[in-house]
Amino acid sequence: VSTWSNVPAGPPDPILGVTEAFKADKDPRKINLGVGAYRDGDGKPYVLNSVKKAEDFLRASNPDKEYLPITGLPEFTKNATKLAYGADSTPLNANAIAATQSISGTGALRIGGAFLARFYPHSKVIYLPVPSWGNHTPIFRDSGLEVRGYRYFDKKTVGLDFEAFFRGRGIAYYIVVDQNAPERSIVLLHACAHNPTGVDPTPAQWKEISNIVKEKKLFPFFDMAYQGFASGSTDRDALAVRLFVSEGHQVALSQSFAKNMGLYGERAGAFSLTTADAEEKARVESQLKIVIRPMYSNPPLHGARIANTILSRPELYGEWEAEVKGMADRIISMRERLYNELANTHKTPGEWGHIKSQIGMFSFTGLTAAQTKALAERAYIYMTADGRISMAGLNGKNIDYFAESVSRAVK
Ligand code: PLP
Repeated sequence: VSTWSNVPAGPPDPILGVTEAFKADKDPRKINLGVGAYRDGDGKPYVLNSVKKAEDFLRASNPDKEYLPITGLPEFTKNATKLAYGADSTPLNANAIAATQSISGTGALRIGGAFLARFYPHSKVIYLPVPSWGNHTPIFRDSGLEVRGYRYFDKKTVGLDFEAFFRGRGIAYYIVVDQNAPERSIVLLHACAHNPTGVDPTPAQWKEISNIVKEKKLFPFFDMAYQGFASGSTDRDALAVRLFVSEGHQVALSQSFAKNMGLYGERAGAFSLTTADAEEKARVESQLKIVIRPMYSNPPLHGARIANTILSRPELYGEWEAEVKGMADRIISMRERLYNELANTHKTPGEWGHIKSQIGMFSFTGLTAAQTKALAERAYIYMTADGRISMAGLNGKNIDYFAESVSRAVK
């Protein structure tokens, strides 16, 4: 009998499983709205011109393939933190941001989880928004933290749960009403383009959330996987992180260049923490190295080199900013068009305004699990069972078919 005969088959990944089902489908009309990867107007994966030029530049410089330091390419982490916190950031200019390169956003979250589990002195509980990106729970659980939820999304209005945030509920409420809630718990916040709902707080609401976090002495951990993707502006999308820092919070931050540079498989990201001063930063970084070294020793070269080339060369930076805006704008135009098709052309029962008001790569359509199943079986349209669609999967060629199919599924 085999050593592994008692290993049970695990369930497929809820998001990557959708892609598998899509690939197996032979119908030419099939559409994959599951995974959050940008597609161009022809439904094709998109390699940014700024990325191609950075690769040309790198090729010409004929770099070696030596190991990176444990915390990665130093210029990359410097430029990544500058992008997130802003060039005029106080902790940045005080050399007080501890940072490391990471295996994209997932790796940053995992390093952060492991570091907090080891060194955050107050609580080992992290509160995640409900709902959140499906991988958050296993990442933080496997990092050694206890995962709990705070209410984020109001199914009735298909929007941010204003009540929850403003009437002493939401983050504060769920921690307060939880009898066993430890003081100074960690709270995970999506910096922009909340996944899966596409619903972000307004600037005024972020200020309110900052006050709640301060009042309840929570520790804010930002996941910024979509900087630039929400509004088209990397500065505007960094508003929440920069506001919290300027309000005096110490923050943890996960960054990914998967979406905003289209570097998905290159795994370029960063994890950072704001600290008191340069001396504390050095101590924190020394411990980040001790967390990382036994996990994967040191990070991959190529993606960080690409990202750093773009971030450090003004002509590429400008082109990249325009390309990020181009991606965000195409998604926004798909939202407009889908709304018109559903609400006006097909007179689909229900309220569809949220398709337009939601932000970023995803839209929480409000479709039920039964409707998403029917769409897969009868129309070859694939999305996660919670009704989340990747707007980037829609284009001029498939959007009419999609709207017509949704309308039929709802009627
Ligand atoms: N965080 C959120 C909210 C995401 O949606 C994603 C990707 O889908 C990630 C983090 C991490 O992605 P990656 O590890 O590819 O950077």
